[in-house]
This record gives sequence, structure tokens and C-alpha cells, in this order.
Amino acid sequence: MSSTNFSRREFIRRHSLTGLGAVLTPSLLTGSPAGLPPPAASPATTPTSFSLAESPALLGGKPVRAREWPTWPLWKPESDEKQLLEVIRSGIWSRAGVVSEFETQWAAALGVKRSLAVVNGTNAIMAALAQLDVRGGDEVLVPPYTFIGTVAPVLATGAMPVFVDVDPETFQIDPAKIEAKITPRTRAIIPVHILGLPANMTQILPIAKKHNLVVIEDACQAHLAEINHRKVGTLGHAGCFSFQNSKNLAIGEGGAIVSNDDAFMDRCFSYHNYGNPFGMVSGVIGAGSLIQGTKLRLTEYQAAIGLAQLKRLDAQTTLRNENAEYLKSKIKDIPGIVPYKLYDDVTRAAFHLFPFRYQKEAFKGLPREVFLKALSAEGIPCSKGYAPLNTMPYLNDTFQSKNFRKMYPKTMLDFKSYVERNHCPQNDRLCNEEAVWFTQNMLLGTRADMDEIANAILKIHTHADKLLTQK
Ligand SMILES: *Cc1c(COP(=O)(O)O)cnc(C)c1O
Repeated sequence: MSSTNFSRREFIRRHSLTGLGAVLTPSLLTGSPAGLPPPAASPATTPTSFSLAESPALLGGKPVRAREWPTWPLWKPESDEKQLLEVIRSGIWSRAGVVSEFETQWAAALGVKRSLAVVNGTNAIMAALAQLDVRGGDEVLVPPYTFIGTVAPVLATGAMPVFVDVDPETFQIDPAKIEAKITPRTRAIIPVHILGLPANMTQILPIAKKHNLVVIEDACQAHLAEINHRKVGTLGHAGCFSFQNSKNLAIGEGGAIVSNDDAFMDRCFSYHNYGNPFGMVSGVIGAGSLIQGTKLRLTEYQAAIGLAQLKRLDAQTTLRNENAEYLKSKIKDIPGIVPYKLYDDVTRAAFHLFPFRYQKEAFKGLPREVFLKALSAEGIPCSKGYAPLNTMPYLNDTFQSKNFRKMYPKTMLDFKSYVERNHCPQNDRLCNEEAVWFTQNMLLGTRADMDEIANAILKIHTHADKLLTQK
């Protein structure tokens, strides 16, 4: 790490004006990009003045920040409610024209031919796996650094998840570790653009092609993120999105499958509507089911909410990118703080989360747990993020099921050896020791907000020895 021989005094000198900046910049609050309302929690009070000499809030000092963060999701009655009320008053609540309009607009936003709205991201992945014929007996490559919603659908189709370790600098699946995990059973790979940072598709796609693997992008956190100006989710055979409440496009619940492959999308449509022929409207009885289907339809009022949120998404994404880049520049030289890296061909990220690695050696050995507590006490909400998905009991529970025992040889289902085969030391380190996250709503604030985050981290760094007494 280049910052190990960094002089802390020099760093503090260069950054001692940030507190002043925090006092002077509330006027920036009016500078929101067009179409984006000021943060819901526009501070009623001015930011707290900042001094590095102040003791940590965890030890009773004055917190760096006493204001609220922008709330999520956003809802603006003036602009958002007209269409929603029309839908509710019409009584047409099951899938119809508004869902189709949302699909058209989502496809257009991504520059992809087709989009199908479904109930959530988990089921988007399940549908995509099923319609790309991933079945029991197959293996599917996944990163361990993700939400359970990536892996649960793999097991639900009867396939076996195989975990590929991550690149700790980017938090993404490590392309260099993929080929070693490919076996004659491997059918698919699910690159996850985790945290809203694009995975290395430039390296993953040729590997998939060489081994004839289906590529399903889990873009559930990566709305409008781009590689070489092409939206993630549109680069593989299928892309899956989530519109769950915390996501950058929030509907409460919801999801989408996108693809340029008409035949695949026709099948997905059919699958999401009981296997009825593609294009058949909902509620038609006795049409005859063509394929094995299920029911994953979005409602009209969900789509109306989605259309309202979609109007803001582009400007919000720009703001998150600007604030993330600024915050990264403010904290990257603090010893022991290693912010995310983006791959060279990333032209835009989504920043569902802002991640960095915390290296306690540079904080006098202060455990991550105490760092997180101290940062929260300063008014900066943060979390340690994911726990390793490759060792949890849900896997063994599935392996012991009747279907799995019929589909796989005993040796493949032995949990102890499965865990050994799927050991991912880089992921363990991120999950158990180093990762720290800020949520996307914080990136919808101002530069003064970002200054406060940086000041709080710097304050903890300065007082790490005192904080060591905390358990
Ligand atoms: C949210 C999420 C999912 C699942 O989406 P839901 O809409 O919650 O079902 C899958 N993968 C990732 C990476 C997610 O963040």
C-alpha cells in the first residue's frame, strides 16, 4: 500500500480545511442536477463545525454530524402521484398497459431490445436460469460476495452453485479464478455487478464463450452502470434487475429480465404467465399453456411507481458517481482506508453501495467492529456488509433434500468437502475483516456531506489509540 509511509501530520495539515468547507458549503444544496429534488432531509440546521481535537463521539465527544441523511425511497406527490392515482381509480390492477409501458421505458433506458417486468430480482434470475435450460445436475459459477438472492435461484432450479473467489480491490468475481472451477457439469456463470460496480465482463465473456457457458448478469444492484458505454445487464445472454425498496430504482418489490434474444424473452414472458402463449393478456382462462410456467407478474400500480422513480434515476446515478468519486479522493490517503477500484473500461458505476477496505493495522489494531461503532457514533451510518455465502447451512440443507440426493453423486453432496472445494480466502477476508459500506442514499447528499464522512474517518484515525479501550 503506497500510503504506509505517508506522513499523518502532512495529511492532517492538507485536510484541516475540510471542516471549514463543511461549514461553508450548505449553499451547494441548491445545486442538485436537473430533475432531482433536493435531498429529502435538506438540513434544517447548518453542519456542525469540525475539529480533529474533539474526542470521538463514542467516548462522549461531539459527533462530526448531527443531521439526517437523505431518506430513501424518494416520493414527490406533485410529480409522482397522478399516474398512480389513475391506475388505482381505474380498477385495472393486474398486468396491463402500465406494466408494458414500464418495460418499454426500462429497455430504452438500457439500450436493450426487450425487458420483462417480474415480481422481484430473485425470480428474474430463476426465470432466466430456467429458460436458458439450467437444470438439476448442472453447475453454475457464482461469486460468494453477493446477496443470497443470487444463489437461492440456482439451488431452486436444482443446479449446484460453485463459488469463484473475488478480487478484493474491486469486490467483484475474479476472472482469473473462473477457469479452474469449470467442470464438464458447468453450464452457466452469474457475474454479479455487486455494490453497483461493474464486474469484469471484458474478461468474463470470452471465457464463457470458450467454454460454451450461459451468462446471466445479476445487475440487481447496478441500474444504469456501464462498461465501455454499454449498460450492464445487456452484455450477457440475460440481465436481471431488482426494484426492491433499497435498490437504486425502488418500487418496494419488483424485478426485470432484459435481453436482445426474442425467442428467450418470449419464453420468459410465457413462463411468468403460467406458460400461456407469449403476449397473452393476463386473466385469460382456458388459453392452453405451452410451457411449464409460474406466475411472476408485476401489478399496474407497481409499474406506475416504477415509472415515477425511473424519471429520476439518471440524474441520481450521475450524482452518486460524482459524490463517490469525490469521497474516494477525500479518504484514499487516510492510512488503512482502501476504497473500491473500478476496472479501466467502466464508464459509469451505479454505486448501490460505496465500499472500502478497512485495514486495522493502520488504526493501531482497532478492530473493524469498533471502527464501525465509532463511525456510526459520529453520525455516519455504515456496515460491514456481507457474510460468506459459501459456508452457510442453507447449502447443506438443500444437499440433503430428496431431489438433490437423486441428482448428484454422494461425493458432490458431502458438505465438508464441498466447503473445502469452495473455499474463497479473499472473500473471507472482505467479509470477516475488511469491508465497510455506505448506502447509496448517502451519495445523494452534498459535497459537504462527503466532507463529513471523510472528517469522521480521519477523526477516528487520529484517536484510534483512545478507541482501543472500547470493546
Ligand atoms: C436484491 C438482490 C437480488 C434479489 O432481488 P430481490 O428483488 O430482492 O429478489 C439478487 N441479487 C443481488 C445482488 C441483489 O442485490
